[in-house]
Amino acid sequence: MTVSFSPADSKESKGSVLIVDDTSINRLVLSKLLSQNDYEVHQAEDGFAAIAIAKTHQPTVILLDIMMPGMNGYEVCEQLRTEATTSHIPIIFLSALNAPFDKVQAFQHGAADYVTKPFQAVEVLARVRHQVSLYHAQRAQKQLNEELESRVQERTHLLSLAHDQLLEIALTDRLTRLPNRLAFVKQLSKVMAQAQIKPDEHFAVVFLDCDRFKRINDSLGHRVGDQLLKGVARRLSKIGQDRLAVHTVARFGGDEFALLLTKVSDREMAEAIANDVLQAIAQPFALAGREIVINASIGLVWGDLSYVATEHLLRDADVAMYRAKDASGSAYLWFESVMHNRAVDLLQLETDLRLALERHEFKLYYQPIVDLYQLKIVGFEGLVRWQHPTRGLIFPNDFIGFAEDSGFILQLGAEVIKMACQDIAQWEQAGLIDSELSVSVNMSAKQLLQPDILTQVQTFLTEAGIDAHRLRLELTERSIITNRAFVDEVLRTFQQQNIRLSIDDFGTGYSALSYLHTLPMNALKIDRSFVQPITDQPNSLGIVPLIINIAKTMNMQVIAEGIENMTQLKQLQQLGCEYGQGFLFQKAVPADQAVALLTQAPNEWMAHWADD
Ligand code: C2E
Ligand code: MG
Ligand code: MG
Repeated sequence: MTVSFSPADSKESKGSVLIVDDTSINRLVLSKLLSQNDYEVHQAEDGFAAIAIAKTHQPTVILLDIMMPGMNGYEVCEQLRTEATTSHIPIIFLSALNAPFDKVQAFQHGAADYVTKPFQAVEVLARVRHQVSLYHAQRAQKQLNEELESRVQERTHLLSLAHDQLLEIALTDRLTRLPNRLAFVKQLSKVMAQAQIKPDEHFAVVFLDCDRFKRINDSLGHRVGDQLLKGVARRLSKIGQDRLAVHTVARFGGDEFALLLTKVSDREMAEAIANDVLQAIAQPFALAGREIVINASIGLVWGDLSYVATEHLLRDADVAMYRAKDASGSAYLWFESVMHNRAVDLLQLETDLRLALERHEFKLYYQPIVDLYQLKIVGFEGLVRWQHPTRGLIFPNDFIGFAEDSGFILQLGAEVIKMACQDIAQWEQAGLIDSELSVSVNMSAKQLLQPDILTQVQTFLTEAGIDAHRLRLELTERSIITNRAFVDEVLRTFQQQNIRLSIDDFGTGYSALSYLHTLPMNALKIDRSFVQPITDQPNSLGIVPLIINIAKTMNMQVIAEGIENMTQLKQLQQLGCEYGQGFLFQKAVPADQAVALLTQAPNEWMAHWADD
């Protein structure tokens, strides 16, 4: 840092000197000496004049005679020291050698230095110069301090700005600019504390999750997903502006948002806001050149005084939201304490599932897959059932979803492949199946995405000693569009190993056909929901003819799911659908019964042969 004195002229830079002496010759000599040396000079012949000039001119140094009539030098010195404007000016006493001069007393009165008379020019100049340079040094120091001080202040200001910005970043959701979960929790805890003091002021939390958001994200890409979330945020903010009770609108992350309501008079008021939210979200979003429709599921929590921790309240909001999602899309539900029991039930279910696996309570049932023209069983779909010791046979819809959420599906899925391979091996060894018969098993997305899935499958095949063509894997559209690069590689390897692949429940996902086309899939299974409406009326066929055409164009086999009557069978045959399965033929049955069907004629194994 540089410090400049910045005086414009040299007098200013050298300084000014006030000469106080009652002897005019002394004043004259000193004044001449100092002027010649570029000092600005002021003169006073007594103490009173000296004080007045010092106040108005602020000299750099004062040369002050001690022995003066009226007011002596000491008294003048004392006065100058008491005045704020002059107290800092250094004073050099002038004293005659023969006069009684007490150096100690002089310094006690605040003298900076002294010169004895008769004075020598060099000495006077040296002492004056010394005081002037001290003065300049002090001024520089002062200026430096001021600059430092202002820099410190500037930095403090910048720091506090940065701190505010950081705080804002920490409390704001980057994508939507809404407050984030942390900010919401802060507000909620304030409101909760307030409620303890004013129990009449009610509050509530509206917690929502957008249904089907993940699918849109997976199929249309993250950019569209982001736009959608911003759109949702805007609509929720609008409700926040319109409704006084909405205190905070926040995004919790993903597709989860929350509204904090304060001063709510009753539950109806919160429900009205929940309805606003549902309606706002249900309006189509115009994104990426198309209209996107989503729904939301809402959990509501009434903020009563029993809540002391924000996380308990938010946990309950979460539970209620999931219940709303289960109940049916586009709904809200209030949290009720019985919902806790369900959460506990789920925990119990997790434990039970693990025990069931150890106790071999999972069984693979087999549903025939039939050649629709020859009415010949060409394979089976293995469908898992839980043979519960007390509750009887439990169907996958009651536990697969939970198994997927909890990760248990990985162990269960492995067990299913293992059982299928072992059953095939047994049937082969007993000579019960021809060389073409294959077994399909369902593979969930999580299972497919395991890094060692290839080795797992290979190990089960090798251990059972069966050929890879015996096994088919059924994958849903959803599982193959996540993590494309990995899935692509895995599917290709399966294909090379001669393990055939089917797309399950086709038509219910968001497949980009152009992408499916590039995958090595062997078969496409038309979802039951498209087959069910088929009657003998041509307009009942819906998009089934289209799906069959797509499959043929892509060189894939078509398997219709859920054929329940002869009319559906005939219609499908006419459309050129080669394969099918359904209750018309058989439900899924235990392994020994399934393989027994192979030895029977169609009129024997078809459950509803005589119908129609
Ligand atoms: P999915 O793979 O689409 O299996 C077909 C489901 O439709 C089976 O139900 C089957 O019993 C049923 N079904 C077959 N024909 C008819 C019919 O004519 N009418 C009707 N109404 N239903 C029919 P299930 O066995 O209850 O399985 C349901 C779903 O659970 C399966 O759908 C599959 O997604 C899943 N799942 C079953 N076993 C496994 C498994 O081992 N692993 C995995 N990851 N998922 C499985
Ligand atoms: Mg299936
Ligand atoms: Mg299916």
